[in-house]
Amino acid sequence: METGVSLDRAIQISLSNPLKRQVETIPLDEARGRVTSVPLASKVDDPRFDNSAMDGFAVRASDCQKGGTILRIIGTSKAGGERPPQVREGQACRIMTGAPLPQGADAIVMIEDTEVEGDNVSINGPARTGFIRWKAENLSVGQETLPSGVLLTSAAIALAGTMGHGEIEVITRPKIAILSTGDELVRPGQELSSGQIYESNSHALASLVESMGCEAVRHESANDSLDELRETLDSLSYCDAIITSGGVSMGEWDLVRKIMEEEGHLSFWRMRLRPGGPPLFGTWNGTPLFGLPGNPVSSLVVFHVLVASWISKSLEYHDEMGPSLSERVSVRLESDVSGAPGKLCLRRIRIRSEEGELLATTHTHQGSGNIHSMVAHNGLTLLPPDSDAKAGEIIDALWYR
Ligand code: AMP
Ligand code: MG
Repeated sequence: METGVSLDRAIQISLSNPLKRQVETIPLDEARGRVTSVPLASKVDDPRFDNSAMDGFAVRASDCQKGGTILRIIGTSKAGGERPPQVREGQACRIMTGAPLPQGADAIVMIEDTEVEGDNVSINGPARTGFIRWKAENLSVGQETLPSGVLLTSAAIALAGTMGHGEIEVITRPKIAILSTGDELVRPGQELSSGQIYESNSHALASLVESMGCEAVRHESANDSLDELRETLDSLSYCDAIITSGGVSMGEWDLVRKIMEEEGHLSFWRMRLRPGGPPLFGTWNGTPLFGLPGNPVSSLVVFHVLVASWISKSLEYHDEMGPSLSERVSVRLESDVSGAPGKLCLRRIRIRSEEGELLATTHTHQGSGNIHSMVAHNGLTLLPPDSDAKAGEIIDALWYR
């Protein structure tokens, strides 16, 4: 067991017990929020055939060199309709957006630039080849456009559909159990007795787990009792991983640490982080277990920097297009920020873009019990150990998505 590990070391140790990556095939209808497990290639050309980008008339550009040309209308090309007739010299074919370009035509005149009189149309504006969408100009058969590990956003789902995939092979969502611990914790909305507080971490952690493409199995909070913890952890070890909150510090009632030391398998305890110093990682009945601190800010912050990386690396998410909670950016500080001796310092910052630059300020106090600070801010500093930063300096930060 290692103690006082750096963030990089903590990620490395936890990856020796990764989440199992399994795959399944699902209908496109259920793809929202899922993650591709293989690269997806197009089954078709896109567009499949030359077609019009406008409602108007398909013509021969050479017929329309001078203004006021009159052409004879020979038919209509509509999307999904019959094959249109060939356009010969002096002729035009009505055409709708997305309809196939008739043979012989090489330009489109917008409907706004035409006037129909009986079987004839007078051309009062330009005939443009730019209004034609050429076969395969977007994608060609066999082209891989969605790599593996990509979050299926609405646009990615549309692309998968365009490429002809009615079913998609995706990463199976691992089940991650969430268990808050503490005698003082009560489900929000219920009556509070003296000394009790509302339990919030499990709800936040469940939402983070879901944002990372996994299924949260949220358990009601457990009391600070070894027997209750053992029983609850046993009942949750069918899951692919367990995340607990609370009970990992040095106190007498910090029983998650105690039970993991005595009855589980502990790989590390304590990280060189502020806030979020006391986390642990190990296994319970062989199931990977993160013990996060109980302080609401600490538990969320440690999930952001440690657990999210573990999930994304275990499941081989795509670096830029996979599920993620934040983006690493450079920000210019608007106020001094003090770091922490020997620890990576994760101060809450508000990031905004101004004149091509990201500026970061801090407001509200930064106590690790003040969950409001996580909502009032939208990022975290990544101040290296033993370093302070002055207003005007550029530092690394995480910007929440
Ligand atoms: P612990 O890590 O168990 O010592 O808890 C540290 C602080 O966080 C204490 O003030 C707890 O009351 C609070 N806390 C622990 N767990 C939760 C939770 N699930 N929801 C809200 N606050 C919590
Ligand atoms: Mg506690």
